[in-house]
Amino acid sequence: LSDKLDKALHVLKGHGSITEVNVAETLKEVRRALLDADVNFKTAKEFTNTVKEKALGQNVLTTLQPGQLMVKLVKDELTELMGGETAGINLSGSPTVILMSGLQGSGKTTFSGKLANYLKTKKTKKPLLVACDIYRPAAINQLHVVGDQIGVEVYSEPENKNPVQIAQNAIAHAKQNGFNVVIVDTAGRLAIDEAMMTEIANVHKAINPQETLFVVDAMTGQDAVNTAKTFNERLNFDGVVLTKLDGDTRGGAAISIKSVVDKPIKFIGTGEKMDAIDVFHPARMADRILGMGDVVSLVERAQEQFDEEEARKLQKKIAKNQFGFDDFLNQIQQVKKMGSMKDLVGMIPGAGKALKDVDIDDDAFKGIEAIIHSMTPKERTEPAIINGSRKKRIAKGSGTSVQQVNQLLKQFDQMSKMMKMMQGGGGRKMMQAMGK
Ligand code: GDP
Ligand code: MG
Repeated sequence: LSDKLDKALHVLKGHGSITEVNVAETLKEVRRALLDADVNFKTAKEFTNTVKEKALGQNVLTTLQPGQLMVKLVKDELTELMGGETAGINLSGSPTVILMSGLQGSGKTTFSGKLANYLKTKKTKKPLLVACDIYRPAAINQLHVVGDQIGVEVYSEPENKNPVQIAQNAIAHAKQNGFNVVIVDTAGRLAIDEAMMTEIANVHKAINPQETLFVVDAMTGQDAVNTAKTFNERLNFDGVVLTKLDGDTRGGAAISIKSVVDKPIKFIGTGEKMDAIDVFHPARMADRILGMGDVVSLVERAQEQFDEEEARKLQKKIAKNQFGFDDFLNQIQQVKKMGSMKDLVGMIPGAGKALKDVDIDDDAFKGIEAIIHSMTPKERTEPAIINGSRKKRIAKGSGTSVQQVNQLLKQFDQMSKMMKMMQGGGGRKMMQAMGK
């Protein structure tokens, strides 16, 4: 999906001005991309129509940067389509009862464990896991393994073949033993069948949960939507959990499900491990789908770590051509505070894809830091004075080679020039320089 949308939006991003034909053409591409990602036809069509209306209504064509505005419109509309705001989970009731539903293999058991772990650590709750998958003997065992892993008690009755009874007994057990959240894991079949639907509907009716969550594998695309519809008709569930959103999973399911069943996506699963759980953020998902990287998270992290005052001082220095190696060192330290290089690069728009297979070394800065530390204060502010003998001394002091010192000096020089150009607002000049 991202590739296609990238292409569609690229048309607009590249253009200084766009025409009405351009808007229509682009939206056609966007629609095709959505359809390819298993978004259902009606949703995709409504989506592009809304964006078009808004684009024309806001006079996109006459604004300074129509491409940017279109990207924003598409993004905002996608966000809206996936629910707009982050939806919370209802933790009322004593105990809170949470029922898992969904097909076999969707990730119910895994997610039950993740949620228990999440509530335990983040919300200081005392959860109890309940094994109501009575058909596969291995299923009860699987939940026990999960429970052991995260240190959460698992309630099971291996001899009992009545899931309604088990669930009711578990809730009584929770009340007696001070558990304030009961998470009921249930059985699923590979496809929807009447017996399974009746069974989960009976459990649902008997225990009257605060939260009924529908767990669905994001990789199943349009099928996920159909399954969601059937489960919703029987259970009128409260929220959706989208699992397996790690790797290259397409975002189509997230877009369609919300609009077809009108229930919020509450959590996502992003891996097999117990901590691979996230609250669902529609705006971030829209960003991700649009291939813009997780810009919001990056900015948030940067804001936490980066002192604005510092940034302003730095800008002044750059403007006056006073940016030296000390400032450079400072920058490296700021970046390092923000997390691992790999994480950061992954969040840069466009870079995530390009650099996916490049192995980024978190120690990449070590040599650079050592070289700068071996410079005298004067050398740091006036790199021009670093001649051959100084280079030798620095290389020796930092345990590197003259070649490495030369390389850093050259890179620093290029970077300083580039920064000057950015300051002058010469975006084009910079692009030219980079092209060379
Ligand atoms: P259930 O039949 O609905 O209980 O599904 P399980 O919890 O047993 O999960 C089925 C398979 O999907 C297991 O191999 C899990 O490890 C895997 N799985 C579950 N959630 C995720 C996820 O978010 N990402 C990935 N990559 N795998 C997952
Ligand atoms: Mg299971």
